[in-house]
Amino acid sequence: MYLKTMRPAQIRDAAARELPVILPIGCVECHGHHLPVGCDTIIVEEVARRLEQRLECVIAPTVDYGPTGYDVSGPELGTMDVAPDELMAYARGVLRGLLRLGFRRIVVWVFHQGERGPLATTFHLAGQRLVEELMCRERGEGWWGARLPEPGDRTFNIIQVRSVVHPKSAPPAGGDHAGGYETSYMLAACQDKVDLSLLSDDGPWYTLRTDNLSASATVARGEEMFEAMAAAWAGEFAG
Ligand SMILES: [Zn+2]
Repeated sequence: MYLKTMRPAQIRDAAARELPVILPIGCVECHGHHLPVGCDTIIVEEVARRLEQRLECVIAPTVDYGPTGYDVSGPELGTMDVAPDELMAYARGVLRGLLRLGFRRIVVWVFHQGERGPLATTFHLAGQRLVEELMCRERGEGWWGARLPEPGDRTFNIIQVRSVVHPKSAPPAGGDHAGGYETSYMLAACQDKVDLSLLSDDGPWYTLRTDNLSASATVARGEEMFEAMAAAWAGEFAG
C-alpha cells in the first residue's frame, strides 16, 4: 500500500498491525549523460514497488532531495545539493510524522552513497534521537537503564536506515556510479529514460570502467538484481 493513497482507517489499521513502513530517500545527481539524475531514488522506489507486490507493507512518500556535495558534477550537469544541516529538520519532521501515525517499524531505504553517506547518516541521527525522545515520553527518563532489555527487544530498530541493497541480495545486486550496475537498474526500471547512444569514449570515467562498463548493461541484469533485492527484503520482513 502506498501511504499517499491510503485512507485514515487503513493507516490506523496498518499501524496497529505493525506493518513495515518503507521510506525511500535519494537525491538529484548527475549519472553521466545517459541516465536520469534521479537514478538513485528511482532504484529505491523500484525495489519498494516490487516489495509492495510481494508483502503487505506501507510505502511512504519519497524524500527526493539530499546531499551530494557536488562531488560528481556541478549544476551544469543536473546535480543539486541539499546539505545535511538543511535536510536534518525535514528528516526529523517526516520521521516524527510517521511515528505519530503510530508506525513502529520504519525502514528508511537508501542507495545514494550507502548507509554511511551524509544522506543516510542524517536520517540515522534524526531517527535515533526521535526514538530516544519517544521512549522518554512513554517510559520516562532512564528507560533503558531501568531494566535489562528483553530478548529480541527492537526499540533501537523502530527506525532503521538501511542500504536498499540487502546483504542477502548481493550478489547479484550491487552498486557503482552510473556503471554497469546502475545502468542495468535503470534499463529495468525505466528503459525509456535511458539513452545509451549518449555513452562516449570520452567518459566520464565512471562509465568506462573496464570491469563494469556502462555499455555492458542489460535489462535482464537489472531485473535479476531488483528481484533479488525484493526477495531478500520480503524474507527479512516475513521472518
Ligand atoms: Zn547512483
